[in-house]
Amino acid sequence: MRTLIKDVRVFDGERAIPRADVLIENDQVAEWDGGRTDAEIDGSGGTLLPGLIDAHTHVSDGMLAQALAFGVTTELDMFCLPSNLARQRRLAADRDDVADLRSSGVLATAPGGHPSQIMAAEAAGLEHLGDAVGPFDTIADAGEAEAFVEARLAEGADYLKIVIDDGSTAGLDLPVLSPGVVAALVEAGHAAGLMAVAHIATAREAAIALDAGVDALTHVFHDLGPEDPYVAELAARIATQGVFVVSTLSYIEVITGGEGGAEVLQDERIVSRLPEGTAGTARRDPGAVPVHPRGLVNAFGATRALHTAGAAVVAGTDANFLAPPHGVSMHRELALLTEAGLTCEEALAAATAVPARLFALHDRGRIAPGLRADLLLVDGDPTRDITATRALREVWRRGVRQSRA
Ligand SMILES: [Zn+2]
Repeated sequence: MRTLIKDVRVFDGERAIPRADVLIENDQVAEWDGGRTDAEIDGSGGTLLPGLIDAHTHVSDGMLAQALAFGVTTELDMFCLPSNLARQRRLAADRDDVADLRSSGVLATAPGGHPSQIMAAEAAGLEHLGDAVGPFDTIADAGEAEAFVEARLAEGADYLKIVIDDGSTAGLDLPVLSPGVVAALVEAGHAAGLMAVAHIATAREAAIALDAGVDALTHVFHDLGPEDPYVAELAARIATQGVFVVSTLSYIEVITGGEGGAEVLQDERIVSRLPEGTAGTARRDPGAVPVHPRGLVNAFGATRALHTAGAAVVAGTDANFLAPPHGVSMHRELALLTEAGLTCEEALAAATAVPARLFALHDRGRIAPGLRADLLLVDGDPTRDITATRALREVWRRGVRQSRA
C-alpha cells in the first residue's frame, strides 16, 4: 500500500518544511520516488506531524483508543497494575486502532505512600475499572531494591518509576521513600538497564531525586513561587545534570481547578470527536491529590526556568481514568507549554522528537524515511497557532489510516 500526501506543510519533529510530498509505504514513511500510488491525499492548507507522544499517562480500558482518536499515537504509562498492563500491551501490539504503549508497570512507593491514598479515597467510585486499580507492591527498605526491580522486569517494565512525594503540597503527611531507598532503586534500575523516572512535587523532592542520579523528573516542581530565586538555581542544576522533565501542566491545572482546564473540552474541534461522558471528567476532587493550591502559577514559573536553563521539557499530561482525559489533554498541554515560554515548534518537538529520543523510541517521533508512519494531518499551521493540532483531518498509526466513525 502506497499513499502519497501531496502539497503539505510538514513539521518533521524538529523543524517546519513549507511544502513537501510525503509517501507512506505500508507501515513506514518512505522516500518519494515518483512511482505508482494506491491513494493520494491533498494536504494543501494542512500540516503533517509525527504522531504525538504523551510521556505521562495511566492506561485503562478504552483509553488507548481515545488517545489515538486525538492524535496521540504513543502513550508512556507511568503506573499500571500487571494484569491490566498485559491486556493493554496485547491490544497495542495486535490492533492498529489504538495508541501504542510503554510502561513502568508498578511504581515504587513506600507502604501507604502516594498514590495509595487516592486509591483509598476514590475507591468507592472505581469498581468499574476492574484490574486497573487494587493493591500493589511497595518498598520499605534499600535491601529490597533489587528484588523490586526484578519484579518490574518480570512485568515487562520499560523504565522504573519512583515516587518521592510526602503529600505536603496538599497538606497531607504521607509515608515516603527515604533518600537511601531512592538511591538504591536508581542504582538497581540502572544495573538492570532501566531508566529511572521520579515523580516529585516539590523542589526539595526534586533535589532528592537529583542526588540519587535519576534520569528524569515527572511533574515540574510546583511548590515555589516564580519569584523564588531557588527556582532558577534548581532549574540550572537539572539542566547541568542532563535530567529531563515531563511537564504535566494540564494535570496540575485540572487538580487546582484552573479555569482553563475545561477550555479544551469546549473547543468545537475537540467536542466533535469526544466520546460521550468525557466532558464531565474535567474536574476532580483535589483533597487526596498532592498538588500545591498555587501549583499552576508555580509550575509555569518552573517550566519557564527549566526552558531558559536549557533543560529538556517533555510534554506529558498524567491522563488517567478520572481527569485529565486521554488524548484530548495533550492538545491543552501543548498550549500550556507555549504559555510557559516554549515556541510552538519547541512545544511540538516536546511531544514528538524529544520524547522519542529521550525514551529511546528510535522508530518514531519524526517524519523521515524508514520511520513508522505514525502521523497526523491537521488543518492550518500549528507551528504558528498551537491550537491547530486540534483541527485533526487524518490520523495514521503504523501506516493505517483511522476511520472517523
Ligand atoms: Zn501519574
